Amino acid sequence: MSQDPRAAAAKPPVLAVTRIPALYMEGLVKRYEVLDRLQDTDPAAFAARAPHIQAVAASGESKLPAELVARLPALKIVSVNGVGYDGIDVAACKARGAVVTHTPEVLNDDVADLAIGLMLSAARQLPAADRYVRAGDWAAKGPMPLARKMSGARLGLVGMGRIGKAIATRALAFGMSIAYTARSAKGELPYRFFPTAEALAAEVDFLVVITPGGAGTKHMIDAAVLKALGRKGILVNVARGSVVDEPALIEALEQGVIGGAALDVFADEPHVPERLKALPQVVLVPHIGSATTRTRQAMADLALANLEAFFAGRPLPSPVPECR
Ligand code: NAP
Repeated sequence: MSQDPRAAAAKPPVLAVTRIPALYMEGLVKRYEVLDRLQDTDPAAFAARAPHIQAVAASGESKLPAELVARLPALKIVSVNGVGYDGIDVAACKARGAVVTHTPEVLNDDVADLAIGLMLSAARQLPAADRYVRAGDWAAKGPMPLARKMSGARLGLVGMGRIGKAIATRALAFGMSIAYTARSAKGELPYRFFPTAEALAAEVDFLVVITPGGAGTKHMIDAAVLKALGRKGILVNVARGSVVDEPALIEALEQGVIGGAALDVFADEPHVPERLKALPQVVLVPHIGSATTRTRQAMADLALANLEAFFAGRPLPSPVPECR
């Protein structure tokens, strides 16, 4: 399809700082001249364009370090397609006068659904059961070993924000008791608060991690928390890989310190340690918390709405809290 070069030239440039999710990219290329990872693919062209780049598009997993921000003197907006923005140096963006936006709320249902799915998968050993049938073990060996019951069990949420609350609502339908830890107690919620993850872990059967990543939560789930969770306890991480001390988790699983784990996020994505893959009581999925077509479209729409508002001089729909 031929494109009018004048129309293309009129499109404002947007730097896609890392690989951008497909639905966000589709919307971007319709409206903007997308400089796709130009800082990596063509450093000379990037140096020529950088002084005029006002907008950056990013995903929830993107890294935008201070060094790259420093090379973008005209930067005004970083629109993240995701609710987590721990890879973005927000302080450096703010110092430049740029606002960071993200996509809260629209993914709550999907991430909460996945958390429940992972809890069930780990407790009822669904991936192992699937493998059991496919391998012919059912016919050869008889019934599988008995699994763990989830309904009525005790759930502990590390993080009680938008997604944490959505997980709690779903868990109530399973007759689970709900307790949580967060930076502060939420008096308006009918759930029991614990001041630390370790104190919470000691009182629950399932510990589900749903905080932001970044320095404030790094390795919050450490060997002591896992020991408190105990040999029947199940850890589910749908937050960020950085929140869990991964080597300590592997050690705890190998030694039977905890009963099992189900993980959507990892310390060094997309690389998953072989020792983790070797453990049968662990369920592993490739960071799919928000990965349904409807939700990814809603996220892309909101990320694009932030860019559109910026270029039209309107208030931004969803700046991150630090930029409000
Ligand atoms: P949110 O509404 O900001 O909630 C975050 C919760 O974490 C809050 O309850 C907060 O406590 C708590 N928290 C923050 N720092 C903490 C700390 N140092 N110690 C203890 N608790 C802390 O965020 P959300 O929308 O629920 O999203 C949470 C995170 O989920 C995102 O930031 C992202 O990293 C992750 N996520 C993952 C996927 C995926 O694909 N797996 C998808 C979407 C989101 P207070 O309430 O006391 O402030």
